[in-house]
Amino acid sequence: MNSVSKSKVSSLKSTLHTLANPKGVKKQCELCHKPAYLQCTKCRVTFYCDTDHQQADWVGIHEKVCQLLIPIRTTMPFHSLQADRDHHCAQIQHRQELIEISRAVAQKKLFEGKYQESLPAAKLSLRCAMDVYGPSAVQLVPAYLLLAEANVGLGSLAQAEEYMSQAEWTVMKTPNCSHTVLHQLHRNLGRLYTATENLEGALLHFANDVYYASDAYGMNNIVTCGGYFLMANVFIKQGKMDIASSLYNEVARTWHSHLTTLLKTHTEGSRTLEQSFDEAQQEEADQMLRAMLEIQESSPKQDKTQNALVTHCLAMLWFLCGSPEKALEFGRKALQSIQLVPDHNLTEPIQSLMQLAAETAQHHTNQAEPCPSNNLPPSQLNTKVES
Ligand SMILES: [Zn+2]
Ligand SMILES: [Zn+2]
Repeated sequence: MNSVSKSKVSSLKSTLHTLANPKGVKKQCELCHKPAYLQCTKCRVTFYCDTDHQQADWVGIHEKVCQLLIPIRTTMPFHSLQADRDHHCAQIQHRQELIEISRAVAQKKLFEGKYQESLPAAKLSLRCAMDVYGPSAVQLVPAYLLLAEANVGLGSLAQAEEYMSQAEWTVMKTPNCSHTVLHQLHRNLGRLYTATENLEGALLHFANDVYYASDAYGMNNIVTCGGYFLMANVFIKQGKMDIASSLYNEVARTWHSHLTTLLKTHTEGSRTLEQSFDEAQQEEADQMLRAMLEIQESSPKQDKTQNALVTHCLAMLWFLCGSPEKALEFGRKALQSIQLVPDHNLTEPIQSLMQLAAETAQHHTNQAEPCPSNNLPPSQLNTKVES
């Protein structure tokens, strides 16, 4: 937890209420469903068994949705059928909004490797989806998968398996299930199999994942190539470095062309970063590219072209995320790698990116007030939720 959220938590703590429940009314803890003794005083509709759970929920999701929960959890008397109907429609809309917000928050935390912290958001997403769609709807699957992924990350494999079988069972009962959902299902089954060291099983699921993802998003898409990346990680575990390396190459090329396009639209000003790149995707890209670079650099036969490709990707990513200094750092690395590969067409784009980054960095130092669109850390850049 950073110091900012720590201080927020402690300031919130002082506004916590000890509950005196009226007889017969049992409030449940938001996180563990045990009897609750504390209430969030900001919304007054969320309850906790103790301060630990209140803090965990605050950091995990509640901070972002505290006020949004008020209309959902407040019952009002209605004087007409129409008013009641309108209220019902508004409730569903609020809940759908909450499903999306909490799903995006959980996803981002998972990409950051904050598995424990992702749980409150994933659980809220599941609960809202159940309220809106019912207990066995296919719309619950994304939340089950987030919960499974978090538990794989935490090493709670039995719990992960439970969520996975819920997801599988739901998908099986859904005729003509969308390929987007099937891709997510197989990706998570692959993760679970990787964690349980069933590597052949994992590869099979990742192959299915890639199949459905390319159908839903296209072959050379960043979502699809996430599956290639996970497959490559399995091949590394199996000691099959050559196959892994060619898959990583595929991933690097896909991200390279994606980031090149983003950079172009960004510098032309035709699209803002927020419109093309959400926070979770930024995080995924950063994690993946840095992992690939690390593997590359520790490998005995370094592929300089791939090295340059990946470092150039990182330079573009950091430039787009408003950190020209880091962009310059990776740009320099990329140039070093490319110098060892003669006649490569990457030199020019790297140099012009570095030029841009240097100008932006200069602009920052000249300004007393940092430029708002270009000087935010990636985590603060975008609060928009993927629809
Ligand atoms: Zn609790
Ligand atoms: Zn609250």
